[in-house]
Amino acid sequence: MRVGCPKEIKNHEYRVGLTPGSVREYVAHGHEVLVETGAGSGIGADDNAYRAAGAQIAKTAEEVFTRSDMIVKVKEPQPKEWAQLRDGQILYTYLHLAPDPEQTKGLVASGVTAVAYETVTDDRGGLPLLAPMSEVAGRLAIQAGATALQKAHGGRGVLLGGVPGVLPGKVAVIGGGVVGLHAARMAAGLGADVSIIDRSIPRLRQLDDLFAGRVHTRYSTVEALEEECFSADLIIGAVLIPGAAAPKLVSREMLSGMKKGAVLVDVAIDQGGCFETSHATTHADPTYEVDGIIHYCVANMPGAVPVTSAHALNNATLHYGLALADRGLKALADEPHLRNGLNVHRGRITNRAVAEALGYEM
Ligand code: NAD
Repeated sequence: MRVGCPKEIKNHEYRVGLTPGSVREYVAHGHEVLVETGAGSGIGADDNAYRAAGAQIAKTAEEVFTRSDMIVKVKEPQPKEWAQLRDGQILYTYLHLAPDPEQTKGLVASGVTAVAYETVTDDRGGLPLLAPMSEVAGRLAIQAGATALQKAHGGRGVLLGGVPGVLPGKVAVIGGGVVGLHAARMAAGLGADVSIIDRSIPRLRQLDDLFAGRVHTRYSTVEALEEECFSADLIIGAVLIPGAAAPKLVSREMLSGMKKGAVLVDVAIDQGGCFETSHATTHADPTYEVDGIIHYCVANMPGAVPVTSAHALNNATLHYGLALADRGLKALADEPHLRNGLNVHRGRITNRAVAEALGYEM
């Protein structure tokens, strides 16, 4: 099969669908790989790195779309891109179709077979191609929060790890899923005093085991949230109710009980945010202040670290990408978890949630 990787064209997207390391794997499986010139520039991989890995370099995106049997990307195709997809071609990328009727219409009209990273599943009920971005965002949340806590950035002026003779900063992580676990791990690693609040007791048990007493766990009630938030220097919002908007767990009123200059990092902002006062911000202007509390609400946090994010994403997508390249549509028939990723096939919507959200017949 000929596998194509165009340069991402969405605003401020620096990741790439195939790293040179992934190209080597496809080539070792006997596939041809066509990469658009400059596709890896955002992660420091130039055309020569791709040539050395065995890829051919295409001068334009059009050449990649026209000549490839399968397209591997990061972000959902933009209007210019979906117009170039065609019947019989496979598209393997993040799609997020449910809130995007225009893209859905474009993909249906193209006849493409589109597999969405975000709906591929695993045996434990997880979303393995989404998880690496939550890992990145969770770890980054502590870096971002620690920076915002510095006085010059508007924060209280607290060093999370403290120093000998001075207590460490206090971090409250609301939601102990993938983001919450990785945030807690970074905060604990810096020496902070960390609490994780979740409404799943089995998850709290797991976290308690994992951290062996190094972090506190609390069941999520209004009282627990207030106690943790009022004493924290840094609060991480990391809750998720799958398929729903994030619950507003911290009200504007609660801000008045917090320490002045405390920092809220709302990682759940991509689902509307779990603090009442959150609104989405960008890497160019990531923070704002409400009632003396600093808010950091960047919706695409992994975009700040494209080198790490692109490699983490490629690690997660490579296995099924190779299955699709090796076996084509048969891979979808053979592998139920990959089949759950199938959202559009030859003019039909094949994912129930997307069909229901947008009024298509399955
Ligand atoms: P996850 O499903 O692994 O974890 C969510 C956790 O929230 C679960 O443990 C759940 O029990 C808990 N929860 C639900 N309701 C709660 C409540 N009322 N109180 C306390 N805990 C509650 O999800 P995740 O992968 O960790 O993602 C968390 C959020 O981060 C999602 O909204 C996700 O979209 C978002 N995210 C954002 C970015 C970004 O760049 N901003 C990047 C990655 C993920």
